[in-house]
Amino acid sequence: MPHKVAVLPGDGIGPEVIDEAVKVLRASGGAFEFEYALLGGAAYDETGHPLPAATLDLCKASDAILMGAVGGPKWDRIEPVTLRPEIGALLPLRRELNLYANLRPAKTLRALVHASPLKEGRNMMDLVVVRELTGGIYFGQPRHRAADGSSAVDSCVYHRYEVERIAERAFAIAKARGHKLVSVDKANVLETSRLWREVVDEVAAKNPGVSTSHMLVDNCAMQLIRDPGQFDVILTENMFGDILSDEASMITGSLGLLPSASLSDAKGDAVFGLYEPVHGSAPDIAGQGRANPLAAILSAAMMMRYSFGDGETADRVEAAVEAALSEGLRTADIFEKDTRLVSTSEMGDAVVAKMV
Ligand code: NAD
Repeated sequence: MPHKVAVLPGDGIGPEVIDEAVKVLRASGGAFEFEYALLGGAAYDETGHPLPAATLDLCKASDAILMGAVGGPKWDRIEPVTLRPEIGALLPLRRELNLYANLRPAKTLRALVHASPLKEGRNMMDLVVVRELTGGIYFGQPRHRAADGSSAVDSCVYHRYEVERIAERAFAIAKARGHKLVSVDKANVLETSRLWREVVDEVAAKNPGVSTSHMLVDNCAMQLIRDPGQFDVILTENMFGDILSDEASMITGSLGLLPSASLSDAKGDAVFGLYEPVHGSAPDIAGQGRANPLAAILSAAMMMRYSFGDGETADRVEAAVEAALSEGLRTADIFEKDTRLVSTSEMGDAVVAKMV
């Protein structure tokens, strides 16, 4: 049976980078059935809604989703705000599809080691942040502003089952990587963090092969700068994960190279997930063939690894990306002296050529 993949190119550079990711998947030798649908501003222009029902139905009927990015100045002033691409498409898509586990790998690539803001020799890292994506303070109720504007309330709520399922996912990932997991919380202050720690300890007891420790979030923010190489899997709640995954990403120094996955539960043999580059729709360079497609291509590799259990193909794609970079090929965002400037599609072709 071919893997059924919903392809949502979105806006700006989304379609350009997604074309290259699909090109690489087609060249990987796997069997796929790609079906395209509108999302974001492109969907709003065509149908009046950034997340049309047909798109959501296609996603629900697929094994995995490959997404570009949405949004841009053209749609920034739409009223009501719930029809703007980021609010009207991304958030409901995550909620409707129960995408509760957000995975953001951050790896320093040898060919780009000097792009990191950290000193060479202190910036080598290969970690993944596993962030809880559908609970915590971003979703907790009550949330309100006093009528006179004098105060505001957000609520941080976590249920045991939410912590349990994200912890189980993170331990499974640690087992497939370096067998080391750091759970990050603020247990010295927050009750939700104390529950978090308790549940993580219970899941850790069932996974004796993984070396587990706890770290306070403020310390973790510091340790990421001091010695990012110490981490393998960082497991954390929604808001801390939002901040720490951005921090870890930036240590690699190149936005155009960062992939992500948002996973739900298993659906038959496959883990249902949405895969997208971390970057946005980059309207400033859209349509010019200047976008770096590697984040989208690496997101496709994550899809092979996590949704389709095909680590071998994922490894091949990742090695091909490193090989193209080692050969000195660069899109404009990472171009430097003594390297060769290539377009979006030339970079995609180079990755295909390097796949063995
Ligand atoms: P952005 O990530 O789109 O761009 C930031 C800068 O990085 C720009 O200079 C851009 O040219 C560059 N850049 C980004 N990706 C690149 C790539 N692959 N290759 C080369 N250069 C790249 O962030 P922004 O400018 O803050 O946002 C632009 C639009 O994207 C906004 O409408 C925003 O809401 C939306 N956005 C969407 C998502 C998403 O769909 N998940 C995520 C972030 C931002």
